[in-house]
Amino acid sequence: MNKIKANLIVDSLKQIFPVHECFLNHKNVFELLCAVMLSAQTTDARVNMVTPYLFEKYPDAYALKDAKLDDVKAIIKSIGLANNKAINLIKMSTVLVEKYNGNVPNDFNLLQELPGVGRKTANVVLAVGFKVPAIAVDTHVYRVSYRLGFRKEEANLLEAEASLKKYIKKEDWIAAHHLLILFGRTYCKAQNPNCKECPLINYCVFKGGKK
Ligand code: SF4
Repeated sequence: MNKIKANLIVDSLKQIFPVHECFLNHKNVFELLCAVMLSAQTTDARVNMVTPYLFEKYPDAYALKDAKLDDVKAIIKSIGLANNKAINLIKMSTVLVEKYNGNVPNDFNLLQELPGVGRKTANVVLAVGFKVPAIAVDTHVYRVSYRLGFRKEEANLLEAEASLKKYIKKEDWIAAHHLLILFGRTYCKAQNPNCKECPLINYCVFKGGKK
């Protein structure tokens, strides 16, 4: 990989997916944080089905910190891992109220300290919520970053993020995250990637999925 090739890939993806933005419905950064926490090991579409009920009942950190665990679990039960996710939502809201007046901090390290918030979630909240350049590496971004040659096969998540940031222009980081997810969902699926119709096959180091 080099910066010229990375730029060509990102520009191609922008043309293929002119609309590329966060798929999780939210009206503010608090809702975004909750939605990203809920999105672990499920689809954005499933999260979007439960969050209207969650945010109507608990519109901010003050409301959610006082929620009953069983009530939150009942609302989010369809998305899996409901017990852990509900516990983390309530704990996270408690910290927001106790340390940040109910606001979501605009700082990677402070975000990562919140209960249930890992590197990926912190990066998404920074990028989408605060427009701070960041690249969150989820399962799609991780897979596609290898197949398009951004990283070595054995690279871990952190190394994948570092490679993407090394080659992609900083002003494209936020867009690149969404674009790589869209590409992964549309063409470069984990199983049976659509290599026959792939517009980026010339960049693929995965040999059209036949490696
Ligand atoms: S050719 Fe296939 S494996 Fe390679 S990037 Fe395209 S869809 Fe993915």
